[in-house]
Amino acid sequence: MNIILMGPPGAGKGTQADRLVSQYGLTQISTGDLFRKALSEQTKYGVIAKYFIQFGHLVPDDYTIAMVRDHLKENTFDNGFILDGFPRTIIQARELESISREFKFKIDAIINLDIPLEKLVSRLSGRRTCQSCGATFHVEFNPPKVEGVCDKCGGELYQRPDESEEAVKVRLDTYNKQTRPLIDYYTMQGTIINVNGDQPMEDVFKDIEKCLEDK
Ligand code: ADP
Ligand code: ADP
Ligand code: ZN
Repeated sequence: MNIILMGPPGAGKGTQADRLVSQYGLTQISTGDLFRKALSEQTKYGVIAKYFIQFGHLVPDDYTIAMVRDHLKENTFDNGFILDGFPRTIIQARELESISREFKFKIDAIINLDIPLEKLVSRLSGRRTCQSCGATFHVEFNPPKVEGVCDKCGGELYQRPDESEEAVKVRLDTYNKQTRPLIDYYTMQGTIINVNGDQPMEDVFKDIEKCLEDK
């Protein structure tokens, strides 16, 4: 089963993807994580992505698509994958359609985590991310057992540099301008499933599972 998980920054894509990974053995493909890894390893994609990410802009489509394409080509996904944070533009969605024909896979579900944008600022400002494994926590809504330490791997938790008030504003604005039209695109195709992301994490997951039952 291959899934696209959509939603604005802070909607809970990473959190829910994590649960889908444990429950169904799917592999998470987060373009944000891939870019952050590329950045820390200073590979070509990292060098290009750095400034866009820092200021909250999307990385240009051609680089993003090339990175995803490489990743899909170089890895195998026995139980399927979850695309977390890709596609984010209509151009990316169209390219994904052509990549899926080329690599012969199909997307079984497109799930959109729906949440009012004003709820996202507190989610983003309280988010803490593991330096080593990328797991996310929240100082209030999902605190780690020991402050500053990842429950999963013991890694150090940090606050992402693109989580400054200014960068968050740009990210939400970018979402409205560039990603919202993609929701309309999938809605017209009739392929998108909306899930209420504005409820406790467990309830969001239950709703996602319900959607996947008949896939
Ligand atoms: P969030 O979890 O807040 O939705 P991500 O970790 O997915 O954010 O992404 C962080 C940043 O990486 C984005 O602000 C953007 O600069 C870049 N990025 C991630 N995915 C994409 C994409 N599909 N297209 C362009 N840029 C992307
Ligand atoms: P995304 O990947 O969509 O940017 P995350 O999964 O990283 O979002 O979640 C953003 C922040 O909000 C994290 O700190 C996470 O722990 C927290 N969070 C995620 N889902 C919920 C929820 N349903 N209720 C409250 N907080 C949540
Ligand atoms: Zn960790």
